[in-house]
Amino acid sequence: MPCRDKNYSESHVAAGFVATFGETLSMLRKLFQTSDPSSQPFVLSGSGTLSWDLVAANLIEPGEDVLVLGTGYFSDGFADCLRVYGTTVTELKAPVGTKPQLPEIEKALSEKRYKAITVTHVDTSTGVLSELQQLSALVRRVSPDTLIIVDGVCSVACEEIDFDAWGLDGVVTASQKAIGCPAGLSISMFSGRAMKAAQNRKTPPASYFASMKNWTPIMQNYEAKKPSYFATPSPQLIHALHTALSQILAKPVSERFAAHRAASDRIKKAIAGLGLKQVAANPDEQAHGMTAIYLPDGVKGADLLPILAKKGIVFAGGIHKEIVSKYIRFGHMGVSVLDPKRNDVDHATKSLGEASAECGYKKA
Ligand SMILES: *Cc1c(COP(=O)(O)O)cnc(C)c1O
Repeated sequence: MPCRDKNYSESHVAAGFVATFGETLSMLRKLFQTSDPSSQPFVLSGSGTLSWDLVAANLIEPGEDVLVLGTGYFSDGFADCLRVYGTTVTELKAPVGTKPQLPEIEKALSEKRYKAITVTHVDTSTGVLSELQQLSALVRRVSPDTLIIVDGVCSVACEEIDFDAWGLDGVVTASQKAIGCPAGLSISMFSGRAMKAAQNRKTPPASYFASMKNWTPIMQNYEAKKPSYFATPSPQLIHALHTALSQILAKPVSERFAAHRAASDRIKKAIAGLGLKQVAANPDEQAHGMTAIYLPDGVKGADLLPILAKKGIVFAGGIHKEIVSKYIRFGHMGVSVLDPKRNDVDHATKSLGEASAECGYKKA
């Protein structure tokens, strides 16, 4: 119902909301560092997982091949999603805590014609960071038509992503991680090439809600500040995203990435100082917005996490099935590293040391 009272849901066609949604879409171009007018942002109600469906249902046709770079739980999930839509998936799996390396990727790319390659920029199950710039250069050299799709759910707004300069075709994310907005939005950016692949497909997308055909005119109309309807967007969440993006873009994004790097370096150093090991052992492959830490011998996550919680620190347990009970995950993105008054990083690392000691751990 049209209503001006803030206690009610705002209309998705009210002038104020239309302007907010339009500005939000334009701000996303800045966050992803794209000024190419053929790039297309999408903001849909859903979570990061819906962005996988958007890729699988629109960019790939049934029976086409996709090369998935296997880094852990989340790349496995992307592969499963692609299979649901009839994609033939080849997974190039790296051992836990590492990523597939360029020579093996080159070999795989030269063996088959892949419609797309997917890379999980930060695999949240291991804290492994994938490198995108050299990867993209390799794909362009060996298999120029292959679309480069990045799962950036755990990296957008905390790791550098230069959409145009790196020649990416899709970067998908969600509202609730480093963007620091409440959960509930699937956020993505696609290149002109990716948009063409969606437009020129021979079979219709096997999803109604996640159809780019249905959403593209809506996104374009809102960005041109015109109301438009396919399915109702969430005005509350889009207002929240507008606020988050305004805060993020108030400073150069390079400063934000540098701040995450600096905090991450401090955390990694503190963890090594405690005598603890990271799941991602190679410093070049370590994410800057989270750290996956092996538990000390004899310490159980089920004992450690509640002690941390009592100290006001929420860490997550393991999620990678091969090592699930052997490690914990420490998220350090957004406000927890950017607001020095909070002192979250030092409080968390100090608490980790204290909680480990309470569980009987002594540094060797
Ligand atoms: C969290 C996450 C997802 C899934 O996002 P949801 O918002 O939970 O649906 C996908 N990929 C990565 C890398 C993630 O960290």
